[in-house]
Amino acid sequence: MKHSISPDIHNAAFNHLNLNYTYIAFDVKENEFRAAVRGLKALGAAGFNVTIPYKQKVVRFLDKLADDAKTIKAVNTVVIDKDRMFGYNTDVLGVIKALMPYKDMLSGCEALILGAGGGASAAALALARLGCNHVTFVSRTPSKARRLASFLRRRLKISVKGFGLSTSNLSAIAKDYNVIINATPVGMWPNSSHSLLKKEQIRSGSVVMDMVYNPPETMLLKEAKLAGAICVSGLDMLIFQAAESFKLWTSLEPPIEVMKSAAIEAIGRFV
Ligand code: NAP
Repeated sequence: MKHSISPDIHNAAFNHLNLNYTYIAFDVKENEFRAAVRGLKALGAAGFNVTIPYKQKVVRFLDKLADDAKTIKAVNTVVIDKDRMFGYNTDVLGVIKALMPYKDMLSGCEALILGAGGGASAAALALARLGCNHVTFVSRTPSKARRLASFLRRRLKISVKGFGLSTSNLSAIAKDYNVIINATPVGMWPNSSHSLLKKEQIRSGSVVMDMVYNPPETMLLKEAKLAGAICVSGLDMLIFQAAESFKLWTSLEPPIEVMKSAAIEAIGRFV
């Protein structure tokens, strides 16, 4: 967890509001995951976040799932309340809130999602809720994209396709879409010079969001800006999803600006 900046974000918010909570990140081995979840419950923790590879695996330990988590069968936030554990997916609201300023452009849109993991499914549900008509997943592993597409087609009630990603097919199709979301780690620090798309492959006036938040302006967003697209940083999503988790754990309004400043300061450590 040495790259997680969630402790910085949440602890800044707890300190700002003088709350007696602390957020600690742990690396948990796969064969210890069950024990880790039980341990948190036994210790009386208020809740926890899970990230890859545990967003699906945690579901079996939970007593109840919120609708978004149920729809995409993935949980990133758990609330522990009187011995019961409730699962939520705040990534979905994180994407919705990050894209909200462009809501009018998203109604009826055709979206391309790069990746077919947990972030990609959260993005697809968010886009469906924002009125998007069609989502295409492209993934390095073609079977993953096809499997995710057929899983979500029935659940999202919009048109969903999935196929394998290659440089040549991406450059041929990317301009057909007016929304593009990167849900792969490509471009993440320290590989900050990488991007799956170049400016020539991005439609002017389209909305391009990168889930990667470190750096806040990724190479993909730099290319998108040059192409005349509207750029949405993964940092916005990160803060909004963290704010939703904070609300679930504390029932208080999150201090968004404090959380964002803490995130920017923490990202500065990596440069
Ligand atoms: P995931 O479940 O592991 O999925 C990652 C996807 O990216 C998979 O489809 C994977 O393909 C693909 N991929 C990995 N490396 C690639 C490469 N070099 N080239 C092309 N495709 C590649 O991960 P996730 O949870 O969806 O997260 C994806 C990214 O979003 C991460 O960078 C994560 O930090 C970010 N994220 C950000 C937020 C936020 O709040 N901003 C929230 C969630 C996730 P294969 O399966 O074929 O390897």
